[in-house]
Amino acid sequence: MKTTEPEGADAAGQLPYSHALAGAQSAEDVPRAATYGRQSQKKEADSQGSPQAQRHSTHALCIARGYSHDPETDHFEDIGKSGYDPSANRPGFDALMEAVRAGKYDVVVISMLSRLTRQGALEAMRIEAEMRAHGVTLVSVHEPYLDTSTPVGVGIFAIIAGLAQQESANKSVFITGAKEEHRKVGGHVSGSAPYGFDAARVMRNGFQITKLVPNPDEREHVEFMVASAMKGKSANWIARDLNDRKISTKLTNMGEKAEKRITAVKKSTLNAKKKEAPPRWTALSVLRVLRDPRLAGFAMEVVGRKAPNKNTGEKGSVGKRVPMRGKDGAPISGHEAIISSEDWYKLQDVIDGRKMTHSNKRGTDSLLGGWGILRCGVCGEGMFQSRTHGVYQCYVRAGAPKAHGGLNIRMWAADDAVARRVWGRLLALSRDPEELDEEETALLREAGRRFAHQRDTSGLQRERAATKSALDYARESMRTVYRDRQAGAYRGKVGEEMFLDSIKRLEEQEARCLTRLTELDSEAERATTLPLSDWLGDSEGDPLGDGSPWKEWDTMERRAFLSLFLDGVEISPAVGRGRHAKPDQRVHVSWATKPQDE
Ligand SMILES: [Zn+2]
Repeated sequence: MKTTEPEGADAAGQLPYSHALAGAQSAEDVPRAATYGRQSQKKEADSQGSPQAQRHSTHALCIARGYSHDPETDHFEDIGKSGYDPSANRPGFDALMEAVRAGKYDVVVISMLSRLTRQGALEAMRIEAEMRAHGVTLVSVHEPYLDTSTPVGVGIFAIIAGLAQQESANKSVFITGAKEEHRKVGGHVSGSAPYGFDAARVMRNGFQITKLVPNPDEREHVEFMVASAMKGKSANWIARDLNDRKISTKLTNMGEKAEKRITAVKKSTLNAKKKEAPPRWTALSVLRVLRDPRLAGFAMEVVGRKAPNKNTGEKGSVGKRVPMRGKDGAPISGHEAIISSEDWYKLQDVIDGRKMTHSNKRGTDSLLGGWGILRCGVCGEGMFQSRTHGVYQCYVRAGAPKAHGGLNIRMWAADDAVARRVWGRLLALSRDPEELDEEETALLREAGRRFAHQRDTSGLQRERAATKSALDYARESMRTVYRDRQAGAYRGKVGEEMFLDSIKRLEEQEARCLTRLTELDSEAERATTLPLSDWLGDSEGDPLGDGSPWKEWDTMERRAFLSLFLDGVEISPAVGRGRHAKPDQRVHVSWATKPQDE
């Protein structure tokens, strides 16, 4: 599924912040990054380790990842300070940790771990643990595996943690899966709260975390937006209604903080007309609220975010918000929900247009009208529904080249005949695939192909790709560890223990990935296999009657079902009148065949 938020949607969603911030995204939900550099000598050399190079590379990473980062105010550094000496006074580092403790940042970016400390893995882990306790993840430019915001990075950090444990008698300091742990206890990791929520700082399991709690006023408006969307109201309509009722957006609810932002925005807004306009709801900002997994209490992550590339002119992408998943693949619930997860998923279907809603389900009583499946048997043109007369009719008028006497058929009779024709054929099929003839096999194969097409499995495919790369990474790391050992690393008894420990952790990660891949594959298979036995049940009684799947389905589901098996329906002229007319004999179906071009 493609993201429906176009580039710049975040910005358009509230106000055009994008000019004010690096990375062309809104301030909301953009992780706030601090960078840190250290150099023991005062020279600004050209090397990778020079303070200038550190400033440059850490800022570049922030831009690439779309973090908000001001190189003037968000960079901390210590020049002429040794990383070995525990007694060395490091004011830059102290200021950084002070800001971390104050909740000013979501991410700390360093160029290399050795910049943070040279006092060994234990000291590095101690610093990371304190950052984690404040909901801050640590990312290294030149050690890409050292990124505690990714499952792989957490796994690698766990290995370092294992080494650190051997350095120390204290075995209880470190917890693996830092970020997930943080999410589990209800942490809201990045940025300011989304519309509908406030961010509150609370202590949980010894972590100080930011937790989302529903804002009573905003919650009411969110519920209104959800209910309206479910009823089929467009995002435009909802935005207009909110504006008409003078419901403020998040920005105007934030008082002083917002004032600052508005000022910043005004400064950056080129369009003079916008200068005095208060923040207003737009279709995009409404969609942003409705698409946010956090509505359902899920922890959220953004996938596919890309910074624009100024050199190549390649456009950036704001990415897509998806529920964050834990190791078991289930979404992680982080905080109190405003709507149930079931309703949230339904809402996404409505927004995606996969499910018709009540108000745009025009002609709910008409199964065949208006979607191009019904044709006139005389002239071959499409037939339309005349709701006033309760008939489908051919509108080819007198005078037209193919004009004829005007053909019509009662809607309910045609609907009933088509449904019975399809169900009749399915029920007549043998349950033993061996006994199906060639034509039946071809029909089921084509219906299966169309069924898979109707189901959106892109989420599964995305997760599969991510899991696959985590698996490859674990295997590659294992190879590296083995090679290092052959080359003479991991000597002696302690070395042997460290080696075994690293391998064990990587094997565990490998096993987790393999299990998840198997699960994903069987989920994908379930999503694309024609559920014939669910539909046909015990095949007793009326296939359209009470208790049948057909009876349960709404018009859209019925149409989706028919379109699996049918290419078209043609109505031939009536042969008799009144009770001699046999509508079902006038209905001719063409069964689904594979399109020639595929
Ligand atoms: Zn016609």
